[in-house]
Amino acid sequence: MAWKTLDDMDLNGKRVLVRVDINVPVENGRVTDATRIARIVPTVNDILAKGGHPMLIAHFGRPKGKVVLDMTLRVCVPVLEEKLGRKVRFVETLDAAENLTEEARSADVLLLENIRFHPGEEANDPEFAARLAALGDVYCNDAFSASHRAHASTEGLARLLPSCAGRLMQAELEALEAALGRPARPVMAVVGGAKVSTKLELLGNLVEKVDSLVIGGGMANTFLAAQGIDVGKSLCEHEMADTAREIIAKAQATGCEIILPTDVVIAREFKEGADNETVPATECPEDAMILDAGPQSVARIVTALETAKTLIWNGPLGAFEIAPFDTATNAAASRAAELSAEGTLVSVAGGGDTVAALNKAGAADRFTYISTAGGAFLEWMEGKLLPGVAALDMAA
Ligand code: AMP
Repeated sequence: MAWKTLDDMDLNGKRVLVRVDINVPVENGRVTDATRIARIVPTVNDILAKGGHPMLIAHFGRPKGKVVLDMTLRVCVPVLEEKLGRKVRFVETLDAAENLTEEARSADVLLLENIRFHPGEEANDPEFAARLAALGDVYCNDAFSASHRAHASTEGLARLLPSCAGRLMQAELEALEAALGRPARPVMAVVGGAKVSTKLELLGNLVEKVDSLVIGGGMANTFLAAQGIDVGKSLCEHEMADTAREIIAKAQATGCEIILPTDVVIAREFKEGADNETVPATECPEDAMILDAGPQSVARIVTALETAKTLIWNGPLGAFEIAPFDTATNAAASRAAELSAEGTLVSVAGGGDTVAALNKAGAADRFTYISTAGGAFLEWMEGKLLPGVAALDMAA
């Protein structure tokens, strides 16, 4: 980890370009979930405390290089002002940003309009990056969740200015490093969710790095089927059978223990409260589908958790949105949360539905770190070096 943090930078009197991710959900012109905005506050405050003048750069939606009026970042200004407890000046165009007076530049926190209105952003056009770079003296990337994209504001700028990670980026990278970079062993991974096909590279990387790998959710069905087990009407990618067998073989070669369900909860309808029963994983009836792992499987996962020192989790163990098929996810997540709170387990979780599943289980707040980064988190779990992070390393 070569990248610098805000602690390494002299920011006094400096114009700091801060790449943030405030791509928040908006309904009828109002921000409905301000989590992402709240999370950038420590970075902005630290820059201010060090005498720097932050200009926030962010994207909103996918305007694809054109000005799209209903994708304006102006909608974030009131919430940003409330969370920061200070005035935020919205800067509509790059021309306006270039023509700000010295006084205006240093009076308030600045927020630049949706950077994706410019085609040069996603193209990582060097001329566009240079134009942006001229607006600042220092670059701070606090948008881990956008750092799997090599765009001008996530990658190009780090080549042009003294650069560092913001507090959120720093916390995210430190947590990820603790979980997969140089983790305390044994390391256990839980990978669930719908499909093997979307998580192939992730599974391939994990079997090389972790000591045990729990496979749950719809994905487990594909692994069961690949071993000749009939999974009835379960969600299953039969065409991925060879791939599943390759992953099992790779795990055997690397000494990674794969933990698949040995008992399963089946139902005949995919709906909340559907009639269900628990059967051995080898005995799913032809007309039924597997919707959750059974108690014996959960007990095995919990036993593995008790001895693990590090846990990395992506994806639910069952159809967690519809009770009671959230039982295995809830039970395993609760135990992981307890062990984390007791300090015996370092637990890192992330990726789309995972955060929702762990929140629903009431476990999220006791995990060591929850990443809200979605795609970037998954790419990191796949063992990829994220361009935005690599650029910070190069700049250091
Ligand atoms: P993912 O986005 O890949 O993490 O997948 C999450 C989705 O997988 C959730 O919507 C779950 O309901 C679904 N899921 C998990 N287990 C099963 C299962 N056994 N059968 C059908 N869907 C499942």
